[in-house]
Amino acid sequence: MATLRHFRILRALVGGKVKLSSRVDRIRTHLPPSVRLIAVTKKVPVATIRQAYGMGLREFGESRVQEAIPKQEELQDLPDITWHFIGHLQTNKAKVVAERFDWIHGVDRLKLAKELDKLAKKGTPSPKVCLQVKVFPDPDKYGWSVEQLWEDLPAIDALENLQVRGLMAIAPWGLSESEVKELFDRVKELGDRIREHQFDRIRIEQLSMGMSGDYLQAIEAGATMVRLGRILFGDRPPLQD
Ligand SMILES: *Cc1c(COP(=O)(O)O)cnc(C)c1O
Repeated sequence: MATLRHFRILRALVGGKVKLSSRVDRIRTHLPPSVRLIAVTKKVPVATIRQAYGMGLREFGESRVQEAIPKQEELQDLPDITWHFIGHLQTNKAKVVAERFDWIHGVDRLKLAKELDKLAKKGTPSPKVCLQVKVFPDPDKYGWSVEQLWEDLPAIDALENLQVRGLMAIAPWGLSESEVKELFDRVKELGDRIREHQFDRIRIEQLSMGMSGDYLQAIEAGATMVRLGRILFGDRPPLQD
């Protein structure tokens, strides 16, 4: 449960000068062993990623191609990193992301799913993907509405080279704690319903949901992957486009 105590810890971790090793230890105590911790390293320097690696973290998430590639190059001597692309992916960058990432979390439209399938057919690696869903309307976020997803699932299932392995969701800004929990519960239910439908290729094994501010609710709802940035690495400077 996201208690007041947790909120204080969160505030201290996000804003304060707590050592990375203490942050990692604290987070690990909140995570059931079945939940994968993806350390979100956007705006985090390579030296800090190495430090996190030294503490045993192996799964890292980046959201911008142009930032991720030079960092991946510098970290090539660490071969057992699993790289997760968690940002919005433009179709024209699908190839470079498929070549460099093991997972793509934000597959949010049929066109992109088809592009990844087409690339894989021609020999580009085929990362595991999560389908990004918006169970509450949110003009600021990408993703399928539930209705549109059901409409597109048969076409997605027909893509022989696409490896759908889960659902991904981001909670909109400004929801109460209970609304956030409800949103994550609905994603979990949606995953269950898709699984019951027994598509040929689509496998919903992972629920990628939960960030620094809401990962406890996400875990409670059944998240299997949490994507944590600020709570591990502290506040980042604002993103600039
Ligand atoms: C930045 C980001 C995160 C991490 O957010 P924090 O609040 O720093 O934990 C998780 N998921 C996505 C898609 C992100 O862009």
